[in-house]
Amino acid sequence: FRRRGWWRDETFLDDLHRQARERPQRLAIAGRRIAEARTDTLDYAELARLTDRFALALLRLGVRRGDVVAVQLPNRWEMVPLMFACMRVGAVVCPISPICPKDELRHRLGLTEARVCVTLPEWSGTPLAEIITGLRAELPALGHVAVVGGPVPAGAFSFHDHFVAEAREEVSGTAELDGLALSADDPFVVLFTSGTTGESKGVLHSQNTVHSAVRGYVDAFGLGDDWVAAVSTPLVHYSGFAQGVLAGVMLGGTVAFQDVRRNEALLDLVERYGATLLYGPPATLADVAASQRAEKRDTSTLRHVVIGSAPVLKELADEVHATLGARTYSLWGMSENGPVTMTRPTDPEDWAVHSNGRAVDAMRTRIEAPGADGTGRLKVRGASLALGYYRRDEAFAAEFDADGWFDTGDLAREDARGGIRIVGRARDAIVRDGEVAPMTELEAVIGSHPRAVEAALVGLPPATDGADTVICAVVVPRGEQGPALDEVRARVRESGHDEHFLPDRMELVPALPKTLTGKVRKAELRRRYGAG
Ligand code: ATP
Ligand code: MG
Repeated sequence: FRRRGWWRDETFLDDLHRQARERPQRLAIAGRRIAEARTDTLDYAELARLTDRFALALLRLGVRRGDVVAVQLPNRWEMVPLMFACMRVGAVVCPISPICPKDELRHRLGLTEARVCVTLPEWSGTPLAEIITGLRAELPALGHVAVVGGPVPAGAFSFHDHFVAEAREEVSGTAELDGLALSADDPFVVLFTSGTTGESKGVLHSQNTVHSAVRGYVDAFGLGDDWVAAVSTPLVHYSGFAQGVLAGVMLGGTVAFQDVRRNEALLDLVERYGATLLYGPPATLADVAASQRAEKRDTSTLRHVVIGSAPVLKELADEVHATLGARTYSLWGMSENGPVTMTRPTDPEDWAVHSNGRAVDAMRTRIEAPGADGTGRLKVRGASLALGYYRRDEAFAAEFDADGWFDTGDLAREDARGGIRIVGRARDAIVRDGEVAPMTELEAVIGSHPRAVEAALVGLPPATDGADTVICAVVVPRGEQGPALDEVRARVRESGHDEHFLPDRMELVPALPKTLTGKVRKAELRRRYGAG
């Protein structure tokens, strides 16, 4: 991979230092001012300076090479210098969402034996700092809990006092840091999967596995240093921190982000910073398009709108184009591999809605044992594949076949143009007459009913032996009255899908059970509606 240019000897920290030298005044990150944050933008010089100060602060807490530093923060500026400070001292950063529940936090901090946890006093009414200090008895490795903003509970200390206040002084010398060389092949981040299919796994990436993914993304969209990204996903997820922050620093561009609870604020960012690329999941882009209809902003700088983590419907692509004036692209990826397939500007215009695109140059995809309809297990290999699962070597090894291909757990088929189309997860497959229902597409079609917010399809065992699997549509109604089963069936029929994939049953629910990253827990739905 190194020979082919996917791996390199430099790190993202080297990129940061280069930008700080070559374009010190260029805006590196722009976040909306949240709560008591003292700043909402950092140029490259400031980002590099804060990185050094934060790194010194980490060293003074006893953090050493290979130690895990958990960072449980929403999209706010501290996240970025902290991530680079971990690189500076050779620590492994473990970004965690502020909506991570207590049991999951215990699992992540325990498994990684995190030495330090940086968190908030509270988030949406949940007392995060207290929860973590309360877990300390069960987490012997956790030496320090730093709290961003007050109040600070007993057993924790103020992040601002230890990291930020000192950072305002001039850095007199970074001798302590100078000897700390970071290798591009060392693990530097542990990212947890969504846990949609079981216990969440801590995916370990090196600078190089992430670099190859970022490179592929940047090349696919032809991004350069004039790039200004508006990122709507959490910086603690692969897309936010890699396709957002790290890609930005590698290129010398600007990354703007906002509180993930405020989708409408994204257009402020686009207008204020002249964003050229907007990244987010379909639900966010639907909100953005609606808010643009209500109050028109200047989005003339936008060139690409990239939508990932779920399929893009034609209606949404058209609406994004009509309201924002930019084209829509779709992307498929996973924590273990980063973005793997994407549609791109060089592809015909309608690709975003019919395809998940082609593999990036650093990755190969393969559909194993496709059935009559062309659907099979999607396997991948290439430079972006993770180093492994943190302390779950067997689980990682089990995903590889004899030829070294990694099983993504997703089903896919090839589309008419040589790209791939994600069908759904293998373990959630609904099979009728030997054919796999195109679950993600059907869900998108049903979920776009005017009286539906979203939908999930699950296969339930038939009432009598030998009968077909029952297809159950679980729908969240929009407004007072959700759609009727007949209307849902009519919609699926109109969308051109095969008759035998029409749902047989429908359940209306106030909300779908979801993981932290918004993925539907289908096993729970199957349990709820009658399958073992
Ligand atoms: P776990 O592995 O713990 O069960 P997870 O697989 O949901 O959780 P992630 O790595 O966050 O954890 O998500 C990757 C998965 O998200 C993919 O395997 C795929 O099922 C789904 N996904 C991502 N992008 C798309 C897309 N564009 N269309 C459909 N599904 C997608
Ligand atoms: Mg997975």
